Amino acid sequence: MIKKFVNLILSLIYPDKCIFCQELIPLGKKDRQICQNCWEKLEIYEGGKEENDHFAFVFEYKDIVRNAIRRFKFKYHPEYAKRLADFMELKLKSLNITDYDYIIAVPIFRRKERKRGYNQAQLLADELSLRTGIKTVKKQLIRIKNTKPQSELDHIQRASNVKNAFKISNKGYFKDSKIIIIDDIYTTGSTVQSCIDVLKNDGAKDVFVFALSKSIFIHEKEDLSDII
Ligand SMILES: [Zn+2]
Repeated sequence: MIKKFVNLILSLIYPDKCIFCQELIPLGKKDRQICQNCWEKLEIYEGGKEENDHFAFVFEYKDIVRNAIRRFKFKYHPEYAKRLADFMELKLKSLNITDYDYIIAVPIFRRKERKRGYNQAQLLADELSLRTGIKTVKKQLIRIKNTKPQSELDHIQRASNVKNAFKISNKGYFKDSKIIIIDDIYTTGSTVQSCIDVLKNDGAKDVFVFALSKSIFIHEKEDLSDII
C-alpha cells in the first residue's frame, strides 16, 4: 500500500514520456510507454528485399525510431529495452525461428560498456531470452578491440575497423550450436559479419542476425548533439 502510494506520487512528479516522441503519457496508460499516436504510426518492416534467410530487422532506422534508439543508447535509458523488445518479440514470432540454442548480443568494448552503464544490445537479448526461453550467454563472445564508432567510417574502413575485434572466451563453446545474434543498429553488416566469422570458426552451425533497426544511410555520421 505504502509502496503503491509512493509510486503514485513519483509518477505525478515524473510522468512517463512516450519513448518515441517524448509526449507525456496520461496516468493509467503507462504500461506501454508508447503513446497511441506512435503506436499507430510505427511500421514494423515486413519481409521485404532487405531481409533474407539469415537476417531480419524490425524498424528502419529513421525518424522517431532513430530518436528513440539514440536516447536508449546514449542518454541512459535502459528501461527502453522492454518496450523495444516488445516489437522485436512480435517480429521474431512471425519469422518462425525455432530450435535455436543461444541469443547473444553484439558485444561492446568493456570500457565503453562501463561508461555507458550497459550494452544496449545485451539488454534486448536479455528481454528476448526471457520471452522465448532461449538461453543468452554474455561472456563467451567478447570484444577485444576498442574500435572506432562504425558511424564515423565509410564502407571499406568499417570492414577493417572490426577485423579481429572479437574472440571466443572458451574455445569450442559454440560448437554445433544455432545462434541468434542481436544488434541494435545494423548498417553495412561488417560488425555482425565479423562476429559471425568468429562464431563459425568456433563451430557454430547456424547464425541468424536479428536487428532492432537497419540504417538505410550507409555514410551517415551520427551527430549526437541533437538528441533530446
Ligand atoms: Zn509517441
